[in-house]
Formats: sequence, structure tokens, C-alpha cells
Amino acid sequence: MTAQQPLWADVIVVGSGPGGATVARQLAAAGKKVLILERGRDYRNKFYYGTYPGAMIYSEKMSFLFTKEGLNIIAPIMVGGATSMYCGCAAPPPPWLKGKYGIDIDGEVEETIEELNIKPLPEELRGEASTRIAMAARALGYDWYAQPKFMEPGRSARLNKKFKCHATTMLGCRCGAKWNAAEWVDEAVAHGAELKTSARVNKVLIEGGQAVGVEGKMAGKPFKAHADSIVLAAGGLGSPRIMQNSGFQDAGSGMAMDTTVMVYGFSKQKGTGNEPPMTWSWENDDAGYMLSTLTDPFLLYPMIAIKKGIGPFLRWTRWHKMMGVMIKLKDDISGGVYPDGKISKPLTSGDKEKLDHAYDICKKILIEAGAKKSSIFMTPLRGTHPSGTVRIGEMLDDNLQSRVKGLYVCDAGVFPESLDRPTVLSIIGLGKRLAKELLDQKREVA
Ligand SMILES: Cc1cc2nc3c(=O)[nH]c(=O)nc-3n(C[C@H](O)[C@H](O)[C@H](O)COP(=O)(O)OP(=O)(O)OC[C@H]3O[C@@H](n4cnc5c(N)ncnc54)[C@H](O)[C@@H]3O)c2cc1C
Repeated sequence: MTAQQPLWADVIVVGSGPGGATVARQLAAAGKKVLILERGRDYRNKFYYGTYPGAMIYSEKMSFLFTKEGLNIIAPIMVGGATSMYCGCAAPPPPWLKGKYGIDIDGEVEETIEELNIKPLPEELRGEASTRIAMAARALGYDWYAQPKFMEPGRSARLNKKFKCHATTMLGCRCGAKWNAAEWVDEAVAHGAELKTSARVNKVLIEGGQAVGVEGKMAGKPFKAHADSIVLAAGGLGSPRIMQNSGFQDAGSGMAMDTTVMVYGFSKQKGTGNEPPMTWSWENDDAGYMLSTLTDPFLLYPMIAIKKGIGPFLRWTRWHKMMGVMIKLKDDISGGVYPDGKISKPLTSGDKEKLDHAYDICKKILIEAGAKKSSIFMTPLRGTHPSGTVRIGEMLDDNLQSRVKGLYVCDAGVFPESLDRPTVLSIIGLGKRLAKELLDQKREVA
């Protein structure tokens, strides 16, 4: 097979999710020659973007990616990474990131909140049923808040589209209201960065303890690319695989997932499915979980519910009366991403206790919000935040550099613990901080 001509850049960024897109945009804007290598393609202008078949096309293993224990992981492979399919929630970094690990990204996060106009949706768009759940929770003494969003209804209007956001935004946003990291990839390209799609990096090239490039396959053909600095941002699953192929045996040993379940209850009133996802949330940091309003998209629901039996499956016909609360656990580091491609993420006994606690609270809230007690059930476990696989403090220093000089990681993999809250704002903060660090280094050398 003929190899591609080698590529050259100042900095190679592998992956174009929020981590990669941020680093690439900041460096390209500062005049660096940036090469972005993205395994997936850009699906934003495809007619099937934001549809059920589309979501299968651009999710790893057509959405049938499971851990050894049967936990379903949704891992989008495309320009923009998982922000193409996220719920658009923004959460500041957890206080422990600065307090315990000394990682201060407050300034970068503040700047991003301003830049992207991050705030909760206006009251009238938070959803009648979602608001009913939040008010029920408050009546029980839980201090639910309106969730800040990377989502602006005005953006739809500017694109001459109508704001139309509900559970299906998790297949890809079709109304344009939701910010997607792909937009920052566009900005990087506008500043001169080169974007190569269908470019899967397998390995980092290392010479004398210094990273000098990467190799992989682009559109099926082998390629090599060279640079002084390499930033792996291939996500919590992608980066440890590349690190393992590059001689880091400890990469992917243990992981967090913010393991997630949905708790559903049915009432005679309107449900949450046709409302924007996650408009109200609450963090119970003492008990180790987050709750938020959310419902699975209509066609996804039966595939999930059937695993819980015929009763939950048949309630599909009443999907529009279903109220959903999502539990996201601060799970322990366990299992891992293995060189044979397998993934394991067992729940520890501590995780199970947290889940039981959270489920009890969800039941109380749903009953208070009008759900019939006998209708309430919990879905099987799933994961949308594979993370903590190349952890700060173990594999990376505070500046996200590995023991190989010039090799950095900047994605969900770097979190030293489960975040148990939306990750994207923290990842952007880390990306901006890393870009500054790389620019400062180059200035010092010059
Ligand atoms: C359904 C869903 C809902 C979510 N909702 C929210 C939310 O509301 N708020 C929030 O903050 N977070 C949310 N998340 C989580 C969040 O989207 C992810 O944690 C975040 O996008 C991770 O960013 P990342 O930069 O680590 O990697 P990713 O976004 O995963 O991007 C990694 C990129 O690297 C590419 N890649 C992988 N391997 C290679 C390789 N070998 N070579 C080249 N490229 C490679 C992938 O194709 C991908 O584009 C959600 C996730 C999902 C799936």
C-alpha cells in the first residue's frame, strides 16, 4: 500500500472534540502551524445528521459498544467529537480539581462562559414537566438549579431555523442552538490550521525521550506526520489506546465513567421527552452523584426498556407522559481500556451504595411530581463520559505533559477522578491553559 507524503506542523492535535478543538483554535489564532488529525468525518452537512440512522453511523460500533460488564458506551467519532451528541450542559470544574490537584482553570472557564454566552435557557424553554420535577425536588428540600447551557435559542434564529430542542438533540443538533466543538475546528482552519479527517492515529513516534510525530492510517493509507509538540485529544477511550501503542503500558489502567442511569415514572401529565434535555440539575456532592431532567429519544427508549422487562417496554406507547431523571455517579476508578480493545467498568460496592441512595431520592421526587409509584423503574447502566484513563498526577504532570517530552494529553482522559458532572467546560478550560503553556514555551525557546 502506498504511504501518504509525510506531513509537517509546529503542533499536531489528535482528535477534534472539545479538548482538541480548543487547543487547535487557540494555537492557530496565535499563528502556529497546527495539524488536526481526526479519525471521524464531518457529518454536519449530511442530510442524516441528527437522525437515528445518523447517530448510528457516527457512533463507535454503531452505538453497540459495551463494556465486559454490559454497560453501553456512546462514543461519537466525528469532527467535534462527543459535543455533536451532547446535551449542551455546562458545569464549572469541581472545586477539588484546584483544591486537591492544584489545577486552576478558573480564568479560562470564566472567559469561555463570556465567549459562548453560557447560561440557563430562558424560563419558558426549560420545559413544563422538567420544571415540575425540579419544583417537586425543591419542595422536598433538594436545591435544584436551572442548568447553564452551551445552548442559545437565538443561534437558531440567526441560522433562519426554529429553536426545536428535545431528547433528539442527542442524535445531533438540527436547529443550530447548541454549540459544538466543530465550530472551533472551523475557526482553527480559518486561522490556517490543516484538518485531516478519516485520519486515525495509532502511535506516537518517540526519539531519545522526545515526541517527534505520529503515525496511523488516513483513508486506509499509512501516513506519518511530524511536529515538536503532540497533543493527544482522542478522548477517554482513544488517547489511552494510542499511548499503549506508544509504549505506555500503564495507560488505560482504571477509568471513570460518571456511570449513568435513567429513572422513569409515568403520570397523566405531560412528560419530559419533548423538552430540552437537562434543563434542571442538582449535585449531591456529599453522597457522590448528580441528578438532572432527561429522557431517552423516542425510538431509543424501547431498546433500553426491553432489557428491564415487558412492562417497561410496553410503556413506550406512553412515552409522551414519561418523566425522566438522570443519575450520574461519581464512580470509583475501576476496570480500564485494554490493548486488545476490550473495556471493563465494574461498579464497586461504593458505587452501588451511591446508586441505591440516588435511586431512592429519584423515586421520592418523581412521586412528588405526580408519578405513580408502581410505574417507576431504573434503566440499565450506561456511560457517556469515558474518562480518567491517562490521569493527571499518575501519567501526566500538572501541565498535561507525559514523561515523554513534547507529548501532551488534553481530553476527558486526564481527569484524576470521576467528575460526575458535565465535562466539556472543564476540558475547554484545560485546553486553553495548555495552549497558553505551549505558546509560552515557544516564546522562551525563541
Ligand atoms: C450523549 C452524550 C451526552 C453528553 N452530554 C454532555 C453535556 O451535556 N455536557 C457535557 O459537558 N458533557 C456531555 N457529554 C460528555 C462530553 O461530550 C464528553 O465528555 C466530551 O466531549 C469529551 O471530550 P474529549 O475532548 O475528551 O473527547 P471527544 O469529544 O470524545 O473527542 C475525541 C475525538 O477524537 C477522535 N479520535 C478518537 N480516536 C482517534 C484516533 N486514534 N486518531 C484520531 N482521532 C481520534 C474522535 O473521533 C473524537 O472526535 C455527553 C456525552 C454524550 C455521548
